[in-house]
Amino acid sequence: MLLTELVTERALPVHALMDQFALHEGELLVGGERLTQLAARVGQTPFYAYDRALLRTRVQQLRRVLPAAVKLHYAMKANPMPALVGLMAGLVDGIDVASAGELKVALDAGARPLDISFAGPGKREAELRQAVASRVLVNIESFREVTTLQSICSDLGLPARVAVRVNPDFELKGSGMKMGGGAKPFGVDVEQIPALLDRIGRAGLAFEGFHLFAGSQNLRAESICEAQQKAYELALRLAPSAPAPVRVLNLGGGFGIPYFPGEQRLDLTPIGDNLARLAQRARIELPDATLVIELGRYLVGEAGVYVARIVDRKVSRGQVYLVVDGGLHHHLSASGNFGQVIRKNYPVTIGNKADSLEMETVSVVGPLCTPLDLLADRMTLPVAQVDDLVVVFQSGAYGASASPQGFLSHPACLEVLV
Ligand SMILES: *Cc1c(COP(=O)(O)O)cnc(C)c1O
Repeated sequence: MLLTELVTERALPVHALMDQFALHEGELLVGGERLTQLAARVGQTPFYAYDRALLRTRVQQLRRVLPAAVKLHYAMKANPMPALVGLMAGLVDGIDVASAGELKVALDAGARPLDISFAGPGKREAELRQAVASRVLVNIESFREVTTLQSICSDLGLPARVAVRVNPDFELKGSGMKMGGGAKPFGVDVEQIPALLDRIGRAGLAFEGFHLFAGSQNLRAESICEAQQKAYELALRLAPSAPAPVRVLNLGGGFGIPYFPGEQRLDLTPIGDNLARLAQRARIELPDATLVIELGRYLVGEAGVYVARIVDRKVSRGQVYLVVDGGLHHHLSASGNFGQVIRKNYPVTIGNKADSLEMETVSVVGPLCTPLDLLADRMTLPVAQVDDLVVVFQSGAYGASASPQGFLSHPACLEVLV
């Protein structure tokens, strides 16, 4: 797929670029079903639909490129829908959770506690207690967590499986969101790690390894390789200070997906090659360690669409507005208000007329009384009428659960796995 073509060949419909979904007589097929039929079976708009086959294919693509020794985890904050987490739990090697709420969903989904890790700043005492009782791996992010875990362990008579989340002295260059390097609330600064490891040893916690997560939404393979390389070197330097051999080395992720014109899908080959070299080194330098990468968006983002129905079609001073029954309150990121610096249009089409050659420039807006409720700003789309279905692609990650559904008291959206 070449999203660049969006810029140069305006007439080329968006669905041709979002080639993960096939068309049948102009209708998008999601989960093998025509969009209008799917909408009828869901029973309402708006909704999110996640395509099982695409989720499976994505994991297979990664498995082909990753060395067998590297474990693949799903960071479920990208999409915590229970049915989807259940599917993913059967496809990947582990689930990364970021709250006790997510932990419950992962355990319900059948993920083995041994393969679950729990990261996040500000884990409450009750959450840490649930994590220890569940026997999942806790990524320690502060000195306070060591003390709290120590008292939980003696209360419950259980060991706490822990890894240390390191705030590295480098960044993931070119990331949509930086989560490591400089001053950060995530993890513990590398300079303080030897002291933290000492405390962990004296507290008698079961040390298992290190966790580094430098950033998110990166489309540059060389930056990801560089960050993984640096994370490995850093862990190697820290390992001699650890109270036990390193058994888990989580190198993070940050793999991005294309959203905007000019962006290309990530080239996995150099990343696989780089990880193979690191795994080779680890066999000698960290012989007890398993390398792990954790991906959220990359695993699920491209498999999902958001579907809303056109409620009104208005013309204001020459500009066409398609007003739909969904918007910012369900899909904050597509509205451009989830961390974006400059608003750009997500890939959008008219899902039941996707091959129409009759195009016009329109803005797609939601029902909220705010100019922020914008799903497409002056985009060239197939000509559409009331009751047609607007589709927002690349909506499988940071959608429903990352949106302020209560804002303006409209109905919540549904999510289906198809
Ligand atoms: C958010 C997060 C992820 C997932 O990031 P994606 O960009 O969705 O892949 C992974 N690990 C940690 C620690 C995170 O906070």
